Amino acid sequence: MYNISLINGDGIGPEISRSAIRILENINDKFNLKFTIDELEAGDNMLSKTGYALPTKTIKSINRSIACLKAPVGESASDVIVFLRQKLNLYANIRPIKSYPNMKSLKNNIDFVIVRENTEDLYLGNEFEVGDTAIAMRVISEKASREISEYACKIAKYRNGLNKVTCVHKANVLKKTDGLFVNICKEVIKSHHNIKFESMYVDACAMNMIRNPEKFDVIVTTNMFGDILSDEAAQISGSLGIAPSANIGENYALFEPVHGAAFDIAGKQIANPIAIILSIKMMLDWISTKYHDKESNFVATRLENAVDSTIKNNIKTKDIGGNYTTNEFTSEIINRI
Ligand code: ATP
Repeated sequence: MYNISLINGDGIGPEISRSAIRILENINDKFNLKFTIDELEAGDNMLSKTGYALPTKTIKSINRSIACLKAPVGESASDVIVFLRQKLNLYANIRPIKSYPNMKSLKNNIDFVIVRENTEDLYLGNEFEVGDTAIAMRVISEKASREISEYACKIAKYRNGLNKVTCVHKANVLKKTDGLFVNICKEVIKSHHNIKFESMYVDACAMNMIRNPEKFDVIVTTNMFGDILSDEAAQISGSLGIAPSANIGENYALFEPVHGAAFDIAGKQIANPIAIILSIKMMLDWISTKYHDKESNFVATRLENAVDSTIKNNIKTKDIGGNYTTNEFTSEIINRI
């Protein structure tokens, strides 16, 4: 029995959380894999009700669970997810990007992973003012750069695709911070035989992602660049609504959609739940490795196949060209697990 924390979130968060709960309950019913779910509150709603975006009760529950599934939160994201990534040292943010047959995307053979450093860079929030000038401090350490580069190599080996890691940076301008990042990346990647090292400026990467996304295998980059590039990557593969992610630490992991709270479509039952459902798939993969649980690995594949088959049968939400509601679409996936 695995105890999971679930943060309901803001905007479309509660709608896609409902989909996640239905999927987990269905797994409980169908397989020899059992979850208990602790539904938690965090985000803008909590902030306006209590003055705290991430209440102590939520943190305590997270500490009792083996992993957290999180729907997006709104404007208070930095008080919730950025805080949790740093507090729990979830140093690796993994964002797989994949195009699907039967779904409109920029090209039909997109399949790469963005590995984003998750604990430092401008996200430490070290900002201050001197007179009429505002200053942000960017922090890049050798330790974090090394850890994330190692993780990127691990993923490249596991994928066994192009066996290439592209280090994305802007070291021509940020000579100290990104200079350190790219040097450590190069050293780590070159120590792994069979993995090719590629270096690319972030602006060139943004362009190449549109020009020839099929040439990427694993991208490793710093926190802010990773955030920006993964929204672009999700959109070129079809929709922000289909991109899942994992925040991995030594002892704990948190899984969440790449997209935000999407207030413009909240409450309309048109949100695409694929991103949170594939985040569950990533959680099952992580459980299968961490706890040597073969059933979890089996169910992860079943869940991924259910998503593939749903799209193949032209069952889609509005953002990807269909007219199924969030709940209807979730039912179709459940029928196929
Ligand atoms: P954040 O800064 O928190 O990442 P954002 O401002 O980048 O958020 P999102 O909330 O991610 O914006 O959404 C951008 C747009 O993408 C939304 O306006 C919405 O139209 C679309 N979108 C995002 N997620 C989904 C989804 N799950 N299903 C359908 N459309 C989505």
